[in-house]
Amino acid sequence: MTIQHIDMDQIVQLVQEKINALENTQNQKPMGVFENPDEAIEAAYRAQREYFELSMEDRKKITDSIKNHLSHYVEELSLRTVEETGMGRIEDKMIKNRLAIDKTPSVEDLRSGVFTGDDGLTLLELSPFGVIGAITPSTNPTETVICNTIGMVAAGNAVVFSPHPGAYRVTNRTVELINQAIEKVGGPKNLVVTVDNPSLEKANRLMKHEKISLLCATGGPGVVKSVLSSGKKAIGAGAGNPPVLVDKSADIEKAAKDIVNGASFDNNLPCIAEKEGIIEDEIFDYLVFNMKNHGAYEIKDQETMDRLEKLLVNEKGHPNKEFIGKDVKVILEAIGIQVEDSIRLLIMETSKDHPFVQTELMMPVLPLVRVQSAEEGIKLACEVEHGFRHTAICHSKNIDVLTEMGHRIQTTIFVKNGPSYAGIGVGGEGYTTFTIAGPTGEGLTSASTFTRRRRCSLIGGFTIR
Ligand code: NAD
Repeated sequence: MTIQHIDMDQIVQLVQEKINALENTQNQKPMGVFENPDEAIEAAYRAQREYFELSMEDRKKITDSIKNHLSHYVEELSLRTVEETGMGRIEDKMIKNRLAIDKTPSVEDLRSGVFTGDDGLTLLELSPFGVIGAITPSTNPTETVICNTIGMVAAGNAVVFSPHPGAYRVTNRTVELINQAIEKVGGPKNLVVTVDNPSLEKANRLMKHEKISLLCATGGPGVVKSVLSSGKKAIGAGAGNPPVLVDKSADIEKAAKDIVNGASFDNNLPCIAEKEGIIEDEIFDYLVFNMKNHGAYEIKDQETMDRLEKLLVNEKGHPNKEFIGKDVKVILEAIGIQVEDSIRLLIMETSKDHPFVQTELMMPVLPLVRVQSAEEGIKLACEVEHGFRHTAICHSKNIDVLTEMGHRIQTTIFVKNGPSYAGIGVGGEGYTTFTIAGPTGEGLTSASTFTRRRRCSLIGGFTIR
């Protein structure tokens, strides 16, 4: 998958016309959307009982239909997301939605196992949990719903989504489209449902309901902690603060381009995006020079830095929500600086203790910290990643540095010599996911993650050696 230039104005106009026409004809709740979480769970439970009787071929037909149907709505979902959340870039959301549709594995991810020997034959099978409660973030709302749906349904489950209150309308629309796709191939009604007008109370109800057998939370530390305290089996995909290290052996021109592309992708909303640069002194200035050639804007004077810090980080050290996922142009305008639309990323040299380094900002702002050696850089990268075990990136031609960093940092994703998004399959090998479960250890989740491992033993038979 590659990133291409798109005529956004034309797409925005066409999609807006479609949305307006659609909204004028809709008075009732769309398919799969429930006000009451109990009703949503009951409907999903009934659907899963019906789905349980279908074959693997039927599961494949259903997930293929979801992929095909959603592929016609990528522009609409991307535009709706930016409109509703006020965060990110439409063209990058289109790439992320396409990625979720094209590269999330379906039933092919489910591999059975076998033991044979003198005592007979034993099968290892992957069976569904039943109904999964999936809590989704505002930063990748549609991508997470698409990716979770394909994996969870391929594994034989029904899903009840509990979306972020700031992104529930676009989630309703995604779930409606998913239900249309399931209906098209004769699959069960309400196999995938969502809770309308979500709230913390409704999310808590989902976490406690007896018919939910597995919880999967994608979001910040609060929600991961909540699902892990629920008393149910839970998958937690939490926050990250990915460092990118560049040492003196790296291809500096390429590293500069990759870092600008990765850190500015969807205005730095992805949890995997480069969030602070750690740069060896010898190549620091040359890297900055090249980053500026690829769309970065450098802030150098202390007074502007102070104003920017005041604007973007509040007294508690948390990011100012008003600027999360906003374009550089919008951020700089707020402190009276005008820049061209082509500027995608703000960079500045800071100390390692600066809040921009220590905090997951989710803004196109990349602080750069100078280090004297790769060894010092690796140590600092581990420190500022805060042990989240999420993502790290390294640009180096020195195999010892790459190996040492991979070993020390222990992140779920470690990208070498590429932009961060290569780690989820954009210009990098492997399947994609939008639920990266570092805290609970499942890693890059896929259909097999959402299954129960079962053993089925036949004693004294079927060993035919
Ligand atoms: P968020 O934590 O504010 O919200 C995520 C979801 O959890 C929402 O549906 C929200 O309503 C719900 N929620 C939040 N606190 C809750 C609580 N105490 N009880 C029940 N539900 C609760 O996150 P966000 O701003 O939407 O997303 C950004 C965060 O998510 C970042 O920290 C980012 O790193 C992380 N993220 C991680 C992954 C991953 O795969 N590891 C993917 C995307 C985002």
